[in-house]
Amino acid sequence: MRRSYCVPVRVLMVALALLVVSSLWAMPAKHVIIISLDGGRPDVILTSDTMYIHKLAAEGAYTWWAQTVDPSITLVSHSSMLTGCLPAKHGITWNDTFRPEAGYVKTTTCFELAKAAGLSTAMFSNKAKLRHIAKPGTVDHYEDVAGGAIGSSTAAAEYWTLNKPSLMFVHHGDPDAAGHTFGWGSREHHLALETCDRAVGILLNAVLASDAASQTVIIVTADHGGHLTTHGSTDPRDMTIPWVCWGPGMIRPGQVEAPVSTCDTAATALVALGLAPDPDWDGKPVAEVFVPEEAPVAAGG
Ligand SMILES: [Zn+2]
Ligand SMILES: [Zn+2]
Repeated sequence: MRRSYCVPVRVLMVALALLVVSSLWAMPAKHVIIISLDGGRPDVILTSDTMYIHKLAAEGAYTWWAQTVDPSITLVSHSSMLTGCLPAKHGITWNDTFRPEAGYVKTTTCFELAKAAGLSTAMFSNKAKLRHIAKPGTVDHYEDVAGGAIGSSTAAAEYWTLNKPSLMFVHHGDPDAAGHTFGWGSREHHLALETCDRAVGILLNAVLASDAASQTVIIVTADHGGHLTTHGSTDPRDMTIPWVCWGPGMIRPGQVEAPVSTCDTAATALVALGLAPDPDWDGKPVAEVFVPEEAPVAAGG
């Protein structure tokens, strides 16, 4: 059941959420990068030569059992990842293409709240339809990039080095394309995830070469998995996604115990930046990944 609140009550709720967030962890990050491997099923990542993703998981918090939303399709699930809301709330129901006449997600996005707090934002995507998430005025730099994962990561790494955005999203399209053509779990699908891994390495090395490495959190996840040559169902092979959160000194290493939804990614990214998620979001910050100042406090909101 959805409740609506008058403005003073909403302001109070956000203030309370801020108090909870500020007690949640010791040292907010200055930068968060969310990398989405389109169709990146966890078991295929784990059985591929993916040294950079393995490094991020070994040094960070991770679960290979996070869950996406139903239907497990690209535009719907990326909208949930970046708005923190289930599809019924964010209002994106189609997946075929960018439909300019259809407008944007109906709820706040993580970029929108970051911008409202005075932070900078950027998106790099291999699929133009993800523009439905980039509401006008909320993403400082949106770029549709050709060349798959390497193309988007190269563009994003160059942008990072020059601009150091506070919140950046990078989309890798290769695994989805290989899955639809050759099958999820095929040799070609493994190779596509190895390409993504090199692309993750391009971004990671750009961060490590900068003066912001100790203030940057990287989240690696996916919009959905897949089975045979398709996805979109509630089959566990479609629904299960990776969720890796890295940030030395800021993110507590180890396997995440709590169930993680893709809706939790937006809230976790904002809390990592020291901001409060929208109380109306379905997703919650994955509180256990944060290095606490004192005792860990359960997240509200
Ligand atoms: Zn997809
Ligand atoms: Zn697909």
